[in-house]
Amino acid sequence: MRMKSSSDAVIRHTPERTCIACRQVKPKRELVRIVKTTNAGVVVDETGKQAGRGAYLCRAKRCWDEGLKGNRLEYVLRTTFRQEDRQRLEDYKGKL
Ligand SMILES: [Zn+2]
Repeated sequence: MRMKSSSDAVIRHTPERTCIACRQVKPKRELVRIVKTTNAGVVVDETGKQAGRGAYLCRAKRCWDEGLKGNRLEYVLRTTFRQEDRQRLEDYKGKL
């Protein structure tokens, strides 16, 4: 029986996500989740537990600039931002 290497096991037990801006794969907790909710629009999900289609960005202004530029985030979330959605994300970025 072939043993899996220990590094494989570590990767498997740490949830990882890809930042949609810089494409780096990082542990989920190091990224910020953005969710398209059914009735509250697009929100930053601090708990990581909100239901809805999500996207991840690093906690780095650079990545938020990139993600909010053009329609990359909208494309990933399969939505079109309303003014308030964009404002909410811009506000969050301002605090990073
Ligand atoms: Zn990033």
